[in-house]
Amino acid sequence: MSMPGLKKGSGISPRVSEGLLFVVSAPSGAGKTSLCKEVIKYIPNIQHSVSYTTRSSRPSETDGTDYHFITEGTFRKMIEDDAFIEWAIVHGNYYGTSKKDLGVLLSRGIDIILDIDSQGAMQIKKRFKNGVFCYVLPPSFEHLIERLTVRKGDTPKEIKRRLKVAREEVKDYRMYDYLIVNDDFDRALGELKAIITSARIKMDRINPAWVEYNFFERRGG
Ligand code: 5GP
Repeated sequence: MSMPGLKKGSGISPRVSEGLLFVVSAPSGAGKTSLCKEVIKYIPNIQHSVSYTTRSSRPSETDGTDYHFITEGTFRKMIEDDAFIEWAIVHGNYYGTSKKDLGVLLSRGIDIILDIDSQGAMQIKKRFKNGVFCYVLPPSFEHLIERLTVRKGDTPKEIKRRLKVAREEVKDYRMYDYLIVNDDFDRALGELKAIITSARIKMDRINPAWVEYNFFERRGG
């Protein structure tokens, strides 16, 4: 048994080289952003993709780290230039993921975590076979109201609008592969870590050339 084009040597990776795409969505206030930020502290070789948005920055946010904050004119120009792998209007603002940023990271073998809404998730699902789709929900709608009310930076009008959108958005939960109920942050984080780890070791991520070299060719029959 021999693999055509297989290069002999110890540099063969046991996994396929292209990074995986983890898409995490949730209604506002479910704790998804905190989960995504926290998980990359524990798991190596995964990065959060920084989205582009026309929304104004909140006091706690930094341009280029939390989002790339841009004008609507710039965003529209990026749409025209086909610069987004997905984009959507959420709560009246534009949000999008740069095709180039994503491509560079994935081709370097870095896994990406995308914290995006379900409209964006659906666009990604159509384009990527290897996406892993996770939905995060609080234990109940009442928890969502509570979490959105205590979060600083949103006006009451904005909170009301977000709740309305949240109720609509939750209907999309079935298109995701995993549901994380965020009633306990550490447990939810553990579940997200487990999803990432298991996706990485799935059989379709294994590089057959590695098995071939280590268990057949090198042994000399
Ligand atoms: P927020 O303004 O609270 O940071 O985010 C509002 C919503 O926009 C969240 O559901 C968030 O996941 C989503 N979002 C953030 N970045 C993107 C993006 O690049 N694309 C899409 N489709 N949604 C995004």
